[in-house]
Amino acid sequence: MDIILFGMQGSGKGTQGKILAERYGLKVFDMGNALRSMIASGSELGNKIKDTVESGNLVSDDIILEVVEKFLEGEAKGQNVLFDGIPRTMIQSEKLLALLSSHERDAFALDIKISEREAIERLTKRRMCVNCKEIYPAFYKGDSCSECRGDLITRSDDSNLDSINQRLHNFAVETKPVIEDFYKRDRLIEVDGEQAIPDVTEEMIDKAGYLFS
Ligand SMILES: [Zn+2]
Repeated sequence: MDIILFGMQGSGKGTQGKILAERYGLKVFDMGNALRSMIASGSELGNKIKDTVESGNLVSDDIILEVVEKFLEGEAKGQNVLFDGIPRTMIQSEKLLALLSSHERDAFALDIKISEREAIERLTKRRMCVNCKEIYPAFYKGDSCSECRGDLITRSDDSNLDSINQRLHNFAVETKPVIEDFYKRDRLIEVDGEQAIPDVTEEMIDKAGYLFS
């Protein structure tokens, strides 16, 4: 069974996804990473993506699905996949599900739920290393960067808040309907993302672990 991980920015989706993937040996398909490594490969598809990105355009759904298909036929063959960052829209969701079923695969969704208010609270408390620009979540307790020992600063300017609001708005308009669709089809597991990280993990494993055993 493949798993599609949903969660608003700030939900801890990345952290929980890593834990889940390690525990159950899932291959992670991270949208951002997949596009970057495709570009780095210098393949024909990679160059097409590079041109699109460099000209300031959005990579089309068809190209994104081509990248997913390559992944399914390559390193993910015969393995369960955890999708992170896709699908973002209803159209992407329909295309992804069609692709999965054409490869005789099936997907369940897992939604790490937090309120918009909690998301804003967490995102505005994120800190960034002044040197290497690494981002640290609100729960990171250290005073300095674990990579380069640089100082951590909060980026709480208004433009940052604007972009946070914009991203949350896009999530509500584009991605929420996808989550509701999985819910209606009885293909969704909801987890309370406002608990402490280990508690979120525990709830996730309790509710979704059976999918992989
Ligand atoms: Zn650093």
